[in-house]
Amino acid sequence: MNIKSKLPDVGTTIFTIMSKMAADHGAINLSQGFPNFEVDPILKDLVDHYIKTNHNQYAPMTGIPELRKAIADKKKLLYGRDLDADQEITITNGATEAIYSAISALITTGDEVIIFEPAYDSYVPAIQVNNGIAKPIRLSSPSYKIDWTEVRRTVTDRTRMIIFNTPHNPTGSIWSSDDISELRDITKGTDIFILSDEVYQHLIYDGAQHESVLRYDDLYQRSIVAMSFGKTFHATGWRIGYVIAPAVISTEIRKVHQFNTFSINRPLQHALADYLSVPDRYLNLNDFFQSKRDLFIDAIKKSRFKLLPCHGTYFMLASYQDISDEDDQSFARWMTKECGVAVIPISSFYTDDTDEHIIRFCFAKTDELLLQAAALIREV
Ligand code: GLN
Repeated sequence: MNIKSKLPDVGTTIFTIMSKMAADHGAINLSQGFPNFEVDPILKDLVDHYIKTNHNQYAPMTGIPELRKAIADKKKLLYGRDLDADQEITITNGATEAIYSAISALITTGDEVIIFEPAYDSYVPAIQVNNGIAKPIRLSSPSYKIDWTEVRRTVTDRTRMIIFNTPHNPTGSIWSSDDISELRDITKGTDIFILSDEVYQHLIYDGAQHESVLRYDDLYQRSIVAMSFGKTFHATGWRIGYVIAPAVISTEIRKVHQFNTFSINRPLQHALADYLSVPDRYLNLNDFFQSKRDLFIDAIKKSRFKLLPCHGTYFMLASYQDISDEDDQSFARWMTKECGVAVIPISSFYTDDTDEHIIRFCFAKTDELLLQAAALIREV
């Protein structure tokens, strides 16, 4: 068969590669972003309950009303926005599906999409599969702040979307209210969509405020917000998230979603709808992860790695320039095989494979495992 690949330059995602390598070599896996601690037993019991009480057939295409209502209540509480749960919220197969369905619904041939690199690795393939053109703008280490002058230079009359991600994976940077003002200014009077990836909304530290686009009326009118239950409730394997967008945009996203995944795991939706009724279950997550960040920093600060600032997410970047001049892909493999700690090389987050000798650690692990990993990292 002669296959004309739609994604000729795409291989297997680095997260799958590094997690497999970690398993093959028995390394501590600080690569792919997932917790090694368990889902709250209350939530597990709720799932069990809904399976046993026969909530096992198709959910409505957009998600069960109870869960969409619970999400709307949560967004009102957190960001002061009144959402129409019927028309503006759609349950998806994780945030990755939310992002993919949104891009597929809104981007057509030749549309330009601005992304900030390092960028999460699903954005560019989703743009390319839809014949859009990714326009990367570089964020520079160590602060990874957005250069808005460059954004202004990059916007053309073909720009259809800007993908915004705060707290930012992989850098752990967060966008400020000044960034929001710039974004409002640049998009005002245009037809540019904002795809706001906010899966780490609760993982923001040192008292900073999460700058959700949901806080800003004018921005929200052109926005699509991708969110994740997997990241929030330590259940990345459940593959459940949601997308929020004004009704006219949601209508288009739903047209793709219904023929992509159709609808999402029903018992999980019932369980999550009940579980969301207690805000403390998500309001304390920043303290929980901040103490892990601090423990990890403290445990590896005497190593030869140079740590970069982490204001949000459960990722921490580190430069190994004082340790090796190997490229970061080789260094990440070496770390996994020889040091016993698997990490992610940051060149995987750039379209041109930029290598600044920086790797990413995931600190969503038990304190015990973090200390074990830190002991190995200090040996390097
Ligand atoms: N978001 C996770 C990370 O950055 C990985 C998700 C995935 O493996 N697709 O590590």
